[in-house]
Amino acid sequence: MKLLEIENLKKSFEDLDVLHDISLGVEEGEVVAIIGPSGSGKSTLLRCCTGLEQADSGTIHYEGSYGLVFQNFNLFPHYSVLKNIMDAPISVQKQSKKEAEKEARRLLEKMGLGDKADVYPCQLSGGQQQRVAIARALAKNPKMLLCDEPTGALDINTGKTILKLLSDMCKKNGITVVVITHNQAISAMGDKVIKIKNGIVDSVVINDNPVSVDEIDW
Ligand code: ADP
Ligand code: MG
Repeated sequence: MKLLEIENLKKSFEDLDVLHDISLGVEEGEVVAIIGPSGSGKSTLLRCCTGLEQADSGTIHYEGSYGLVFQNFNLFPHYSVLKNIMDAPISVQKQSKKEAEKEARRLLEKMGLGDKADVYPCQLSGGQQQRVAIARALAKNPKMLLCDEPTGALDINTGKTILKLLSDMCKKNGITVVVITHNQAISAMGDKVIKIKNGIVDSVVINDNPVSVDEIDW
């Protein structure tokens, strides 16, 4: 079953034709890497898929919910760590505060941040902020995670830790992963590697032997 299907997506910024005609699908259970040169429209594609940007034309169809992880974490700076994670479950998914808090604390424990519930994002390192962002994405109980350069703002060692956490949590919970990356080594984790170039899908490579996070050759 396809969890995401994009057909003939187009997006320009004035006379800059960023997404010329993009069609792609993500099957349930897959790890899909989306690669392409800087400026090729990867983030724009993701932003169009998530309503952060309005596509000019084309269709985007989801089956089930998704969570988002960004390069720059995008936590709410004026919310505590706990509130960052509880916010969507309460306001969007209408969970009770008690239920949302219990799940948020459980996820924080899993992320090794059990003691950080009451601090604010600015009091955390980049790696810790990204762990909060992953917990926030997972709190929505998504079928799929869409990640835009999730380790792009982190040093290599922190990036490795984050990628392992992300990969382990998704595997354990059966979450499909779409990861945008310009890092060839990370893209080797994908069951499918989609290359975006000049506004179109330049190639789709099925990878029969995706590497595990421990095998990545950074
Ligand atoms: P990538 O993520 O692959 O590096 P982006 O999707 O961020 O690429 O950007 C693709 C192109 O679109 C770039 O040339 C960028 O400058 C341009 N772009 C992105 N967002 C906007 C915007 N809101 N307004 C105008 N141009 C934009
Ligand atoms: Mg980008």
